Amino acid sequence: MSDLNQQMAARYQNNFLKEIEEQAEMGEWVKMCMQCGLCSGSCPTHFQAGWEHPPQEIFMMIRAGKREEVLSSSSMWMCTSCYNCYVRCPRKVPVTHVMHGIAEYTYRIGLSPKQQPTQHLSKTFWDNCTRNGRVNEVKLTQTLYFKDGIVSGIKKAMEMQSVAIGLVKSGRLNLMEALGGGHKCKDIKGIHAMLEKAKELEAQHKAEKAKA
Ligand code: SF4
Ligand code: SF4
Repeated sequence: MSDLNQQMAARYQNNFLKEIEEQAEMGEWVKMCMQCGLCSGSCPTHFQAGWEHPPQEIFMMIRAGKREEVLSSSSMWMCTSCYNCYVRCPRKVPVTHVMHGIAEYTYRIGLSPKQQPTQHLSKTFWDNCTRNGRVNEVKLTQTLYFKDGIVSGIKKAMEMQSVAIGLVKSGRLNLMEALGGGHKCKDIKGIHAMLEKAKELEAQHKAEKAKA
């Protein structure tokens, strides 16, 4: 068990709903769910392999205190943000955001599934675009293609070469990005200051939720 996970388990003991309400973004909405099942029935991906529990089930499990099962599940990482559930929920629960909030929480306390592709993409994308304030597409593609090794990376690159050539010709992909050139944000310091402020506000918001 990671240190933070241990601390959280001890802090909330048998009150998993409270833990989600305070620690996961939008977690305070879970108690509004009336278990109608509309979100699960509207979800286009929940029949796919790896999707253990659709949103309604996750919310019910949180209320039933099934901490281990929820936090170690890959279900939240399967959400494609199509927003079907969000627009259809009769209780106006922002289901999509709650699912992402729980996923982020599992990552923070070290329980998220290590090889989950959505998690890998999110982390890679975030690290890439926050570095210079704009996505370096060449480096992003390299990181994603070569995540399983050189051979599979080369294979994927060969499969996609005609798309890459088209993007380069149309000016949508700048190969100078591989050397650190290409697109950059004009005010990188400003972007970093903005991100720091966002982090500060998030921490403040969490502390206020914990006090309430
Ligand atoms: S649609 Fe809304 S109220 Fe119904 S189960 Fe899903 S989250 Fe709960
Ligand atoms: S936003 Fe996510 S959870 Fe909601 S219906 Fe779409 S894939 Fe399913």
